[in-house]
Amino acid sequence: MKIGASVLALEPMHIVDAVRDIADMGYKHVELCCSTPGFDYRTVTGDTVDRLKALAAEHGLIYTLHPHVVNTADTYEPGKALVQAHYVGAARLAARVGAKSIVVHVGYRSGTDVERARALERSLEVIAKTGEVAYAEGIGLMLENTDWGELRLLDSPADLLAMREQCPKGTRLLLDTGHAVLQGFNPAECAELWMPHLAEIHAHDNHGGNDEHLAVGDGIIDWEALVAELATHSWTGVMMIEIIPEAGGAEGIKRSDERIKNALARSARPCYNQHCQ
Ligand SMILES: [Zn+2]
Repeated sequence: MKIGASVLALEPMHIVDAVRDIADMGYKHVELCCSTPGFDYRTVTGDTVDRLKALAAEHGLIYTLHPHVVNTADTYEPGKALVQAHYVGAARLAARVGAKSIVVHVGYRSGTDVERARALERSLEVIAKTGEVAYAEGIGLMLENTDWGELRLLDSPADLLAMREQCPKGTRLLLDTGHAVLQGFNPAECAELWMPHLAEIHAHDNHGGNDEHLAVGDGIIDWEALVAELATHSWTGVMMIEIIPEAGGAEGIKRSDERIKNALARSARPCYNQHCQ
């Protein structure tokens, strides 16, 4: 398992300063968010793109890109067109900065009058179009579990697997731990079920009621169970710490990192290979 960090924790810092700070903390995997100052796909400057590429080259960084947080399954006008523009804009920006993958959200019904099948169809349209742009540039898509409550599209972890089947070929899965508990899913069980396609995990915590994006271990999530599950499979994906500034900023990232590593150490099985003894 690799551990990375999202610039989300350092907002409202400028994207370039946030990435430099994360690189200085020793992380190689960095999530860039289109909501971070200086990184909106409509206004980002060539200078910012150049500086992000220079930081990646200098520190060996691997970027993933998170589009603006909008409802992928929006079927209402005028939001619908803007959602597609946000996603395609994010895919193009990912190509400019050399990101390896981009996050796509499942989305939710725009209202109780919208049939679930129609909302799902819209989400898949947006993802397909984003995929066309992304794949032409060699960028992968990661489908993330999002949204709960009566407008949700997913009833069970298996529904995400079924949705992936309808996404562009090669789409991988992203387990968001905080969203999973709000959906009533067990993160460790999601990891087990999604393991063959699981590329990344968004690591953050909450108390079961709101999407708080707290530091790892500051809420109700059973990290021991999740990390043990990942260790059992010798999972090689990225555990991306995705907390908000109020959850401690750089200090919250550090605390989350330590707790993940401690859980990993406790889950380690003794090795009976004679060379290890
Ligand atoms: Zn997430």
